[in-house]
Amino acid sequence: MPLPDLCCARCRRRHPVRSLDWLCACGGLLDVTPFDREPPRLDAGGPASMWRYASALPVPGKDAVSLGEGMTPLLPVPDLPGVTLKVDYLMPTLSFKDRGAAVLATLARELGVRRAVADSSGNAGTAVAAYLSRAGVSCEVFVPAATPAGKLAQIAAHGATIRAVEGTREDVAAAAAVAAAQPDVFYASHVYHPYFLHGTKTYAYEIWEQTRGELPRTVVVPVGNGTLLLGAHLGFAELAAHGLIDRPPVLIGVQAAACPPLAEAMADGADESVPVTTTPTTADGIAIARPARGAQILAAVRETGGTIVTVDEEGTGAARADLAAQGLFVEPTSAVCWAALLAARAGTAPAGATWAGALPHLRAESVVVPLCGAGLKSP
Ligand SMILES: [Zn+2]
Repeated sequence: MPLPDLCCARCRRRHPVRSLDWLCACGGLLDVTPFDREPPRLDAGGPASMWRYASALPVPGKDAVSLGEGMTPLLPVPDLPGVTLKVDYLMPTLSFKDRGAAVLATLARELGVRRAVADSSGNAGTAVAAYLSRAGVSCEVFVPAATPAGKLAQIAAHGATIRAVEGTREDVAAAAAVAAAQPDVFYASHVYHPYFLHGTKTYAYEIWEQTRGELPRTVVVPVGNGTLLLGAHLGFAELAAHGLIDRPPVLIGVQAAACPPLAEAMADGADESVPVTTTPTTADGIAIARPARGAQILAAVRETGGTIVTVDEEGTGAARADLAAQGLFVEPTSAVCWAALLAARAGTAPAGATWAGALPHLRAESVVVPLCGAGLKSP
């Protein structure tokens, strides 16, 4: 089974996956070229991990670099019938990023690379560090200097070299890009490498299998760089293309009011993220002022009939406490979706067109809300 190549989303130029390219010379982002795989099946069985869908992934499942990630619980919420929580912080490195990191590390081993770099606000760097270490690939992780100590300790524990960068998240990405331009270096980027999204698409497959094909009307997703949202969109789109579902759930994205480039683009009717002035936020995992795949995220959300809303710091803190009272300790980034759902159902959502558009979907009879990262990462 050959590894599918990459293709520029802008000029359609083909990039062999072995070239280690992660951006086209024209500046376009790369996607995975279409590849023939078996659709997932409800009764296929297989391991109790995301590798039960190996037949639909671009890397071979037989030799997967795996720590048993995926098949996380879909948990009912007392007093809110129809609302379920996808507990994706129950992963080997305690965040959903393990889905993509497992695929990237498997790819790295297939390609025989020895050195990799990554950049991250924390969770993706942790996941990549763990899986690349298991794959025997040395790894440098560029992070913002303000990254929470828990995340740094995890990255260091897996033997990765941490490069703390002062400045914005964009400055961190720029420093990583310089390192990734060295010969024979694999850029294990959760944002630029499109194989990552084929890992996160298993999030959608699992919801489909766990609901026995009775998909929720609405799936809520926190949005920074959009790696879960684009993966979920891809997964649901593949299920629809295979005729396994009638229509994908509506995707509602949630951003921190402190950093809302995509929510504002949605409000403005723009096709690309808009420049915003940011303020500090506890939701560090989605504090992305200029998401590289912003146009793709906006198009994906619109295609499902969804929208993108914001929640403030107070709402996020209250939602985090509410989840903890239910026995679920998550990091603030993971609480933004719960904050949005509570605001919609309590009637305390702010005014505005995007919120008005989101309300019926957040109040639908069946809604899945993800819990993406564990609380100890950012206590
Ligand atoms: Zn191009």
